[in-house]
Amino acid sequence: MSVLVTGGAGYIGSHMVHALVESGESVLVLDNLSTGFKWAIPKAVELVVGETGDEALVTRLIAEREVSAIIHFAASIVVPDSISDPLGYYRNNTVNSRALIECAVRGGVKQFIFSSTAAVYGNPAKVPVSEDDAVVPMSPYGSSKLMTEIMLRDAGVAHGLDYVILRYFNVAGADPDLRTGQSTKGATHLIKVAVETALGKRAKMAVFGTDYPTPDGTCIRDYIHVADLVRAHADALAYLRAGGRSATLNCGYGHGFSVLEVIDTAKRVSGVDFRVDRVGRRPGDPAQVVAQSDRARELLGWKPQCDDLATIVAHALAWERKLGTLENW
Ligand code: UDP
Repeated sequence: MSVLVTGGAGYIGSHMVHALVESGESVLVLDNLSTGFKWAIPKAVELVVGETGDEALVTRLIAEREVSAIIHFAASIVVPDSISDPLGYYRNNTVNSRALIECAVRGGVKQFIFSSTAAVYGNPAKVPVSEDDAVVPMSPYGSSKLMTEIMLRDAGVAHGLDYVILRYFNVAGADPDLRTGQSTKGATHLIKVAVETALGKRAKMAVFGTDYPTPDGTCIRDYIHVADLVRAHADALAYLRAGGRSATLNCGYGHGFSVLEVIDTAKRVSGVDFRVDRVGRRPGDPAQVVAQSDRARELLGWKPQCDDLATIVAHALAWERKLGTLENW
């Protein structure tokens, strides 16, 4: 019995693979290495380089490796890219997921855990946003994820595939043991950009918009440590294996920080007073996105252990330092 992790060589997926191996699971990774790295996963784990949409390949892997559960991370994740290349996003995120779900159903896979996103809510009418609130994605990225949610729900009803959909808020930080971390080049996410700037990899950074209707005028997000996010997946798998019903759950802590608060934390943790420019708004940014997060805690027994912005930033910073020393990066 194995767990198939798609996108297992990527940022969040590689943290998941380390956690699964640690808990004694037999793990198989399927990744096309478009943004992932072979070195990000333990040497003992088999990496199959390929596409989640390759039905012949996935069918064979499920049968040969007796895959009982799939954790599906593989996806394109850059919102502005999804606006310029919507069809590419629908192919990679939606069409490939459709193929994967079909292979799962045909191959008798029992549990399916899917990486969704707070982007399905678009610009939430209220915060914290709950799983029952309206889903109104503002980008092809959000739509491509929502379409997969819908396919899973319908396939779950028709074919008995049990699933948990996890809607991620702003994932950041790195493995506290520094086995893996956020390694994609040209990253755009706030905490990654801030620690790169603190280490001098960038000369300066920008705050996108200071006129939002928030206490300090900058956007507020719910930053979640990648280790806690991975814990939610492990809890979801245990929950489904114990006979839990399919569910859609927010993964955030339930409280937010502004862009300026994040930058101040990065300066404090790094001890570097780097240059920050205040510029205009970035198109498409909602003012506030914060999770209502009690459902995951109640249903899965999820207990976050790194709910502390300084810890998240410290781990991101430590990983960023280590990245600079890696030869094959
Ligand atoms: N942000 C910023 N400067 C940066 C990167 C991000 O001011 O260099 C802001 C961005 O406008 C948003 C928040 O930080 O308000 C979080 O952005 P990020 O891209 O990390 O995640 P998102 O919430 O867009 O998924």
